[in-house]
Parts: sequence; structure tokens; C-alpha cells
Amino acid sequence: MTSTAAERPVDVLVVGAGFAGMYGVYRAVKAGMSVVGIEAGDDVGGTWYWNRYPGARCDVESIDYSYSFDADLQNEWVWTERYATQPEILRYAQHVAERFDLKRHYRFETRVEFAHYDDATSTWLVGTDTGERYRAHFVVFATGSLSAPNKPDIPGVDDFAGEVLYTAQWPKEGVSLAGKRVGLIGTGSSGIQSTPLIAEEAGSLTVFQRSPNYSVPAFNRPLTDEEQVRIRAEYPERRKKCLYSSSAGPFEAYPKSAYEVDEAEREAAFEERWKAGGVLFGKTFDNQTIDPVINEMARQFAERKVRAIVKDPQVADDLFPTDHPLGTKRICTDSGYFEAFNRDNVKLVNLRREPITSITATGIETDQATYELDTLIFATGFDAMTGALTRIDIRGSNGLDIKHAWADGPVTYLGIGIPGFPNLFSITGPGSPSVLANMILAAEQQIDWLFDLFAFLEENDIVAIEAKAESAEAWIQHVDEAARQTLFVKANSWYNGSNISGKRRLFMPYIGGFGNYRIKCDEEQAQGYPNFELTKASVPATV
Ligand code: FAD
Ligand code: NAP
Repeated sequence: MTSTAAERPVDVLVVGAGFAGMYGVYRAVKAGMSVVGIEAGDDVGGTWYWNRYPGARCDVESIDYSYSFDADLQNEWVWTERYATQPEILRYAQHVAERFDLKRHYRFETRVEFAHYDDATSTWLVGTDTGERYRAHFVVFATGSLSAPNKPDIPGVDDFAGEVLYTAQWPKEGVSLAGKRVGLIGTGSSGIQSTPLIAEEAGSLTVFQRSPNYSVPAFNRPLTDEEQVRIRAEYPERRKKCLYSSSAGPFEAYPKSAYEVDEAEREAAFEERWKAGGVLFGKTFDNQTIDPVINEMARQFAERKVRAIVKDPQVADDLFPTDHPLGTKRICTDSGYFEAFNRDNVKLVNLRREPITSITATGIETDQATYELDTLIFATGFDAMTGALTRIDIRGSNGLDIKHAWADGPVTYLGIGIPGFPNLFSITGPGSPSVLANMILAAEQQIDWLFDLFAFLEENDIVAIEAKAESAEAWIQHVDEAARQTLFVKANSWYNGSNISGKRRLFMPYIGGFGNYRIKCDEEQAQGYPNFELTKASVPATV
């Protein structure tokens, strides 16, 4: 490729230095392609770089929530706990970057502002906020499904004069909350994980809850030396189980149907899963998120657990969800969340009974009371799955704007290709299992598929590839139909965009299973990519 002086030519431009982007850069180097990575943060880690709030840790066991592509890395890295903390996961990301010498390919503290496709050359002009310009043959957006923080549109949201914090952009240098009157808005996983630690440190904590969430204790603990040995011996088999599983994890549901067993056995199965900790409880029995009767059994079990912890019955009523089936929003994984509400310095404000009227310079006003605060924490989630992409000025073939193309919801083929946007790929994007799977393994699967595709394009002298519009429409319909067969559609969640005002309500992740999705991707590859438009080079592409 040639290019104008101001434009740096590159085979692949990867946006994002989270686990997906880092693996993309690794694969590009391995494939002998020139690559540049662009990252807004000043280091690698993505989610684990930004979300440094107290209590942040993974909710998929670390031995599973880690790269599988390199056996030495897998065997040498030691996870100290079942669910690693954010600092440990960030250290792991940094270790991987150093081990495979990835950082030298990245431009940090650099945000991609635009990506414009040039039909004549089948290349992308990518511009950053630092004024750099790249001319890329392929652009891989590994920008994250949960990376565009949501600032709530509460009246007076900018008026608070005290300290304002976002869990999703927690200051690197840390924060002292000692003795402070802290207000926390949001009771998703971030709010639920941070509540117990904030409660321990702050003078007082007022939790403003719009919707309660199901949460299961992590039962986190250090991994013993014997477990470390066993993990390494079992790793190959454990990873193999993930490959064609429903959510890229090694666990299976209870071997009998919830209807087949008597009450005592059912209770024992729930108890065992509860004690296993976290999100797995949501899949104790097959069909638990499909069949409302089985779901209700699980719900009632969880309710008994919560009521046994929370001393004030009114607070317990407020904390337990009644507005959606269990597991149809991401189940939270906590360490002492419900217990925190038994503390004298913690108060729950149920915004369904007592809505916020405004945020003021000194605190929060509801229609019933005034809460004076020193620190206000927003744990208000993300413009999930599409936000990171639609916040960039992306224009595809003939200037098609991604915001326009996705005005009625994201349209992708397999979550990777977008009609109208040739040579552009999204990783763990809408229409892929992404957030419903162990996301590191999900990213590895897509990146591996993508680099096989790049090799195919090279071998066949193809300069442009674009998902066919009719294939993408059919795929998105399939994604929607798969969701409709479950109880997930009964919840207002970020899975379907209902957490963001004005966003089209559409279930975005593919719920048909990680294994089934892998099979579809493999078939697409084996058949020579029939759902993509392939353009052969008539003359060599010049830039
Ligand atoms: P990210 O890690 O989000 O990285 C994307 C990167 O792209 C970011 O660093 C961002 O700065 C950068 N970026 C975005 N836009 C631009 C731009 N325009 N220019 C330059 N850079 C840009 N998943 C699990 O499977 N298990 C878990 O236990 C789990 N825990 C989580 C805990 C939290 C607090 C959160 C928020 C999410 C969690 N997730 C979990 C989901 C998590 O996002 C994924 O597991 C994974 O880390 C995503 O990696 P990624 O590389 O796809 O995206
Ligand atoms: P979230 O689940 O979307 O929760 C956001 C919270 O903010 C919700 O309680 C929401 O209430 C509330 N909120 C938003 N706008 C509000 C407003 N205007 N007024 C009052 N409340 C408002 O976001 P999250 O907690 O950051 O989690 C997002 C996802 O990231 C999780 O589901 C999970 O996949 C991942 N995550 C994982 C972990 C982990 O355990 N490893 C930790 C954190 C995050 P409503 O529900 O009423 O909208």
C-alpha cells in the first residue's frame, strides 16, 4: 500500500486494548501483518483498566476467565483466588502485553474519533483525537460491549458540588471515602459489588435503588496449592468443555429436569448451586430461563436466602426483585451485599416509592426527602453493546453513517460483519454470544475466525469483504427469535437497550449458545463465506 504523507498505512488497525484487542494485535503480528492498536486509556486492560471501584472482581472464575491460546501462559500464571480482584486481572493483562510484546504496537491515550471508508481503494481512513491519521485495509473494533459509561439524565446531574465518581471511570490514584456521606445510584453488578466495601469505609452510605437485582454470594476464597496443581492437570479438558458449551464455561445443569425430582432433591440441587457461588445459580436446571415454573422455583429459593440475611423486612421486600424472572438480567455476584443493609450506616432508598426529583449542589432530593452528601457515586451502567461504536463517527460505503444504519437497532451478520461497512469487523458485537458467554473465550473464538478469514482473503486476492444485507437481516431475526423463546425478553435490561432512553428495544446478544454460534461460524468459513460479498482485486489496491 502507498499513502499520503500524513496517513500511516497499515494492514490492520485494532481499536481497544482490552482482552479482545490485545489478542487481535497478537494474531496480526503472528500473521505477519502490519498492525496498529489504538487505546483511549494509558495502558492495556480495557474493562479492568477503567473499572477500579472498590470490590471490582470477575464473576466468572478466573481459571476460566483468562486466555486459553497459549498453554505456557495458562500454566505459568497463578490466580490467587477463585474470583480475582480488578488489580489482579489488570496485572494479568499487563503480564500478557509484556510477555508477547504487544504494547509497542499500541498508541495509548489516543481515542479514535472517526473511521471513513473509501470505496475506490477499499481502505479506511481512521482519525484520532491526537491528530493521527491511518490508512487501514482492515479495521477491527474491539471497543468493548460495556465500555461506554451511561450518565443518567436526572435533572441537575451536573449540579452536585461535592466529589462525583463513576464506577466505570474510577480514579487510578484511588479515593478516600473515610468519614464521608456517600450516595450511590445504581444497583447492578457494579453497585452491588462496591456497596459492602464503601459501607465499611464511608461515614454513611445511602444506596438509591431504582430496580432491585438478584444477587448470589460469590463464596470467594483463595485457591489452595492442591487446587493449583489440579487446575493445571485438568486445564486441557476444562477448556475443551468450554468450546461447544452454551456460555463458554465448563459447567452443566443438574442432570435431571426440575420436574423429575421431588422437592427435597430440587432444594438440594439449588443449595449446591447456590454454594457454588454467583451466576451459575441462574442455570441450576435446564430451561430455568425458559420455563416460568422452574424459574419461579429458583426465585423462591433465592428469596428465602435474602430474607434470612436482611433483618428489616421492609428493606428485604425492597431488595428482592419482583419485576423480572431470575437470571434474565445478569445475576450479580456479591460478597456481603445484603448483609451491608444490616449496618447502621447504610440506608436503602427505594426510588420506585420515592423518586429522585433532582440532584442539587449538596445532595439528592426525592419527592419525600433531602439527602445531604459529600460524595456521589454513579454505578449507572453502560450504553451497552452499541455505545462504543455509535460514539465514533463511522462512515462506510458511500458515506453510510453507522448511527443511521443502526437507527432501528444493530444489524450484523454473526455480530462480526456489518452490511455497508466493508473490511470492518466488530468483536463481541451485537448479534454474537458476547456478554452471555465467558467473554475472553468469546473474543478468542471471533479473533481466530477473523484471522483465518484474512488469510483466505489474501490467498484469493480479495480486497473487500462485506456482510450481505439479507444475511444480516436473517441473522438478526434469528437472534431475536432465539431471545423470544426465553424469559429474557420479560426484563428491562441493558441486553435489550431499555436502560438507555431513546434506544431501540431489541435483544442484542445471541442467546442460541456459544457452541451453536461457533458451529455457525465454522460452517461459514468451510463454505467459503457465502453470506459475505467478496470483491476481487481488479488492479492492486493502492492508497
Ligand atoms: P473492553 O475491555 O471494554 O476494552 C475496550 C477498550 O476499547 C477500552 O479500553 C476502551 O478504552 C477502548 N476504546 C473504546 N472506544 C475507543 C475509541 N473510540 N478509541 C480508542 N479506544 C477505545 N465478562 C466476563 O465474561 N466475566 C466477568 O467476570 C466480567 N466482569 C466484568 C466486570 C465489570 C466491572 C465490567 C464492566 C464488565 C465485566 N465483564 C465480564 C465484561 C467485560 O467487559 C469483558 O469480559 C471483557 O473484559 C471485554 O473485553 P474487550 O476487550 O472486548 O472490551
Ligand atoms: P447495570 O447493570 O446497567 O446497572 C446500572 C444501575 O444503575 C441499575 O440499577 C439502574 O437501574 C441504575 N440506573 C441507571 N440510570 C438510573 C437513573 N437515571 N436513576 C436511578 N438509577 C439508575 O450496570 P453495571 O452494574 O455497571 O453492570 C453492567 C454489566 O457489567 C453487568 O451486568 C455485568 O455483565 C458487568 N459487570 C460485571 C461485574 C462482575 O461481577 N464481574 C461487575 C460489574 C459489572 P435500572 O435497573 O432501573 O435501570
